[in-house]
Amino acid sequence: MNDSTFNSSYDYACQLDRQDRLASFRDEFYMKEGIIYFDGNSLGLLSKRAEKSLLTLLNSWKQFGIDGWMKGEYPWYELSEHLGAKTAPLIGAAPEEVIVTGSTTANLHQMTAAFYEPKGKKVKILADELTFPSDIYALQSQLKLKGYDPRTHLLQVKSRDGRMIEEDDVIKGMTDEVALIVLPSVLYRSGQILDMKRVTAAAHKRGIVIGFDLCHSIGAIDHKLNEWDVDFAVWCSYKYLNSGPGGVGGLYVNKKHFGRTPGLAGWFGSRKDKQFDMEHTWTPAEHAGAYQMGTPHILSAAPLLGSLEIFEEAGVENLRKKSLDMTRYMMDLISYELKGMGFVFGNPLEDGRRGGHIYLEHNEAARICKALKKNGVIPDFRAPNGIRLAPAALYNTYDEIWRAVHILKRIMEEGQYKQFENKRETIA
Ligand SMILES: *Cc1c(COP(=O)(O)O)cnc(C)c1O
Repeated sequence: MNDSTFNSSYDYACQLDRQDRLASFRDEFYMKEGIIYFDGNSLGLLSKRAEKSLLTLLNSWKQFGIDGWMKGEYPWYELSEHLGAKTAPLIGAAPEEVIVTGSTTANLHQMTAAFYEPKGKKVKILADELTFPSDIYALQSQLKLKGYDPRTHLLQVKSRDGRMIEEDDVIKGMTDEVALIVLPSVLYRSGQILDMKRVTAAAHKRGIVIGFDLCHSIGAIDHKLNEWDVDFAVWCSYKYLNSGPGGVGGLYVNKKHFGRTPGLAGWFGSRKDKQFDMEHTWTPAEHAGAYQMGTPHILSAAPLLGSLEIFEEAGVENLRKKSLDMTRYMMDLISYELKGMGFVFGNPLEDGRRGGHIYLEHNEAARICKALKKNGVIPDFRAPNGIRLAPAALYNTYDEIWRAVHILKRIMEEGQYKQFENKRETIA
């Protein structure tokens, strides 16, 4: 950033809001007076439409009882498929390649059970050392289930700086012993986007199956999973997709894999017309729906109906553009206002590599977060020293960014953070 050209005034922030063509979406959300919420990458906020769709499905239970499976505005029997089709445009997939089901962890188990096929020399799984712990636990247990020792068979690409994973290093890790690769689209701490297209092409050149965890990208950035020929993907919906705590997640299976037998079978993975024949021979669905297991969590999927409508109207490319503008503005303002206060950007500075949040590192990060919360700014802390700030394109404003940075400046100038312990809370 060039200090002499950056406009740090409050008026400029307000001007950016006036020019924002997505600004009206903020009114769709329940925003709390006096609170600046920058934690939409951990738990997105409730929209009025998500609330309405939840109440619609609750009402179909009230009205129809068991017949709600086939009756009402959104019959429950087809809900997961319907929501999968609605999600597909967000990730560049065909409708039948996506199903809304399970959670990230459960879906990763399901995908690994199907796509990890150790054979001959190819017996190892490649991940990275900065990945979200739950993904690693799932891969470790899947290795054990197939009789392998995770200590020797789970390879984790090392980070050079503790923040990023270099694509070159991932590709170097693709030895002829690797059967499967699982990586995040966006790293949950630094917010780095991995070049999914490049890494996928490199994996396929070596005959390796590759899947991605999209938790920190779905709803924030656009994807072209089909075009990149990604084999599979999993995600949750309670972050940028605003489906509510524990909202039902989703998975993507590339069309070319249709017909493969899922590793973990269950009756909701059946062909719809066969499911209620109640035979003991399973007839799986001929699309991503085959990877469902038990009865869908209808009430936890319901908010997505309303929420996805908002994404459809806003357009994910537009949201990505605004998100990048916002994180760029936030970084510029922080560089300008918080100079010499000990903050370091742990996120990529280049637009093409930056996801939906910024990651500020500081030795006092844990207690700075507590001071921010006390002052009405909701960040989230990631051990050991990171402050994640996610301006959500659907509901945050440049005005909020300006005010939050000035609140942070005051906290630092007045040493307000010193009244707190520099230790994380149970949930941080
Ligand atoms: C949030 C998140 C998860 C959480 O998984 P759940 O099964 O929904 O609890 C997993 N992986 C990543 C990368 C995440 O960001």
